[in-house]
Amino acid sequence: MRNAAAIMKAASDLGMPVAAQLIGVQASIGESTLRVIDFGDGAGPDSRGLFQQRDSWGPYADRMDPAKSSALFFKALQRVEGWESLEPTIAIHRAQRNADPNHYTRFRPQATEIVKALGGEAAALVDPSGACPAAGNEVVGDLAGKWVRPMAESINTSGYGPRAAPAGTAGGVLANFHYGIDFATPGHAGTIVAVTDMKIVKVRNLDGLFGTGVTGQTTDGKLTIGMYHMEAGSVRVKEGDTVAAGTPLGTEGATGNVTGRHLHMEFFAGALPNPMIPINATIDPTPILKEKGIL
Ligand SMILES: [Zn+2]
Repeated sequence: MRNAAAIMKAASDLGMPVAAQLIGVQASIGESTLRVIDFGDGAGPDSRGLFQQRDSWGPYADRMDPAKSSALFFKALQRVEGWESLEPTIAIHRAQRNADPNHYTRFRPQATEIVKALGGEAAALVDPSGACPAAGNEVVGDLAGKWVRPMAESINTSGYGPRAAPAGTAGGVLANFHYGIDFATPGHAGTIVAVTDMKIVKVRNLDGLFGTGVTGQTTDGKLTIGMYHMEAGSVRVKEGDTVAAGTPLGTEGATGNVTGRHLHMEFFAGALPNPMIPINATIDPTPILKEKGIL
């Protein structure tokens, strides 16, 4: 934890945001499990320290020093164009120039927990997607409490509950249980709409797991609903907006940990500002959607 704190401090000393601190911790878990390693590996016999930096990164003493090696990493990250809007593992991959661009994805949840534990209030609000969406406060449409299908011509393709992990998706805790319900539109990318009146509390951009999508709280405060895997750049609402049932939110896509285009919806009990931090327990949306005439 001391090394994680040194990484976070190095980022803030350079005037970089919490999102950078999280990326630094994520990178170091992936390189050294946050240890100052004094030996190399097959790919880089001269790799050293928290970030496994090779000779070309700087003097041995700097690469073995948590603060100095972190600063070397963050300066490399600053040189990655648009790192703030990249998927975090891609931003790290470009800074580190390692072999596998997806190597760091699986260390994101652990890095999030560490940054939250060390960073207090400000860090608790950090978005694992690393994106910084603009704030909005519009009210769109007539809030009448009704429910509609999430996509007009869609079919329900997968239900909530245990299932084998789809081939080609990342494993881990998400492997053998489907935490949501899927809809897909045959033949074309559907328009995803708000299933009921909701306040948008989270917009994600190219998150490694959930891709691009939105999370909303129902206006009665009883449910939080996530709608994910939208087309990149297609989200039409902003955090803080309140939207009526049927308001277009974005376009069905295949971003995140998926094998094909579809909408994945997750339901949580109560009004959660950001249900991914920490990972909260989902509820089965089936009875709710049946009662509302959607299934
Ligand atoms: Zn799904």
